[in-house]
Amino acid sequence: MWVFFRTQLTVSPEKALANGRHLLRGRTVLAVAAHPDDLEWYVGGTLRRLSDEGARVHVIVASFGEKGPNLTHAGNLAETRELEQLRAARINGYAQVHFFGLPDKGVVDGPAMRQKLTQVWQSLNPDIVLTFDPVLWSLPYLHPDHQGSGRTVYEYWRSMRRESRPSLFFWQSRRPNAVVDISDTLTTKERALNQHFTQNLGRAGARNAAISSQVGHQVGIGYGESFRRLQ
Ligand SMILES: [Zn+2]
Repeated sequence: MWVFFRTQLTVSPEKALANGRHLLRGRTVLAVAAHPDDLEWYVGGTLRRLSDEGARVHVIVASFGEKGPNLTHAGNLAETRELEQLRAARINGYAQVHFFGLPDKGVVDGPAMRQKLTQVWQSLNPDIVLTFDPVLWSLPYLHPDHQGSGRTVYEYWRSMRRESRPSLFFWQSRRPNAVVDISDTLTTKERALNQHFTQNLGRAGARNAAISSQVGHQVGIGYGESFRRLQ
């Protein structure tokens, strides 16, 4: 059982890095997450690299994460987390954050996620889309809004004509086939991640760097973020 759930690269290190370079060629990028801090935790280094390379990075944050931890005892957690996300976005160079304002832990209970996603997607026409892996997710942390967001994106993508589909990359996947080198953006990623004080009191960056170091080690680089590339 543990072998099945263990995260394992499915291609050679060279191929994984080549797939990562393909991701970085995106010009209009859409990253879809459930809560403030998801993006910075899982793919902050990649998003910073994309904006450094001149891509327009649009991100969706489906809920304000009002049911998450409140380590700073904020009076209005949703508002505080929105501000934390906006600060992180500035540091990480996102062109725009699309807040959907859906209920935390209920992101995919109704049709709203799909409707709002469709609107943003059609107005941007992205060439690269990133989200949670809804099928081959990796442990240890699972949240229904994460896999639900990924599933909504995956279903929309599959509903498109094959030739007009953008490249789709899943993060938090246990069968990754792509790695982006984030050695140069690690420090900025940590700074963006540490803006989410209500969640981690500004201490998440160092913990996250250890994970990026493990990913990098598998392909012979300093720090990396891994993905499962579908197309
Ligand atoms: Zn989350």
